[in-house]
Amino acid sequence: MRVSENPDLHVDTVLVSAGRPAPEPGAAVNPPVVLSSTFLADGAVNYARVGNPTWQAFEEAVGRLEGGRALVHASGMGAISAALALLPAGGTIVAPDTTYNGTGDLLRAFEEAGGAVRRVAAIDTDGFLTALDGADLLWLESPTNPLMDVIDLATVLGAARAGGVVSVVDNTLPTPLGCQPLTLGADVVVHSATKYLAGHSDVLLGVTVTADDERGRSLGERLHRHRTLGGAIPGPMEVYLGLRGLRTLALRLERATANAAELARRLDGHPGVERVRYPGTGAMLSVDVVGGAESAERVCAATRVWVHSTSLGGVESQLERRRRHPSEAPTVPDNLVRLSVGIEHVEDLWADLDQALRAP
Ligand SMILES: *Cc1c(COP(=O)(O)O)cnc(C)c1O
Repeated sequence: MRVSENPDLHVDTVLVSAGRPAPEPGAAVNPPVVLSSTFLADGAVNYARVGNPTWQAFEEAVGRLEGGRALVHASGMGAISAALALLPAGGTIVAPDTTYNGTGDLLRAFEEAGGAVRRVAAIDTDGFLTALDGADLLWLESPTNPLMDVIDLATVLGAARAGGVVSVVDNTLPTPLGCQPLTLGADVVVHSATKYLAGHSDVLLGVTVTADDERGRSLGERLHRHRTLGGAIPGPMEVYLGLRGLRTLALRLERATANAAELARRLDGHPGVERVRYPGTGAMLSVDVVGGAESAERVCAATRVWVHSTSLGGVESQLERRRRHPSEAPTVPDNLVRLSVGIEHVEDLWADLDQALRAP
């Protein structure tokens, strides 16, 4: 048995050992970056749009972490598009009223093409249960990005399963270390692996994961077909970097989560902050800045350690006023600044944020 197949291993050890080549004398310790568009006939994979050994290593690791079968995609949006393609044309989706803005744009495109979207406030569990009646697909992310509202995943996913509604959870923010939606009844998990899984703001990648049961396998086959025929596949080098980043996920999250908890505590009551939105765990929080949108932009421009950029989940702390993007949900206040806390020293992060919040 390969060490990574041992079911008793702790997640930190799985992160380090999964997806390595079989331990034979002289074997490479890391999976090779396989740069070949085609493979000799009669093997398991004959063409690199269908599969690649470097993808398989990354997929083995993420599959182990989520408890299912993983497929790597060219970006988070690639994974999300594949998951939404599971829907019948003109079907009905239930989703939170605030989602990652790229997903929000896709949902609007789905409506323009004749589909229906029922939007529910994240904290309205009963609203989800009502909306599921007659729906085809449930879309969830928790905490929601960037409001950081927490959804009762177990209840809503359980109801979807009982009602035969296919459920998809965007697990980018919690990561599989914080939440494993398949164990709560989800059919499909999607990730922007660009964020915490890869963790260094140097690649775009996505993942879909399906349960290892009959229903999950059939959904997994449809996702695989979408990836193969859609043709938007990741390069082997990007996927290698994703796996390289994944090795340190537990350590990165440990530091970033501790930093975020401390910053949330100190920001509460800061004279420059109206409201702190922190789900109580994880490395993301948002703050509503005193003085409106202009003041929020000034704070973002005044930091030196924090990087003023979109995206999240990197080793570097990043911040951004989300409503600067026209596609951001109108439910997001225009003075909301989203903070993705990195692994720097917390005192440097605090000093920089504090001076930026006090800057005239
Ligand atoms: C960034 C992000 C995405 C999109 O992923 P890309 O890799 O940028 O395509 C989807 N969902 C969430 C929650 C994200 O943060």
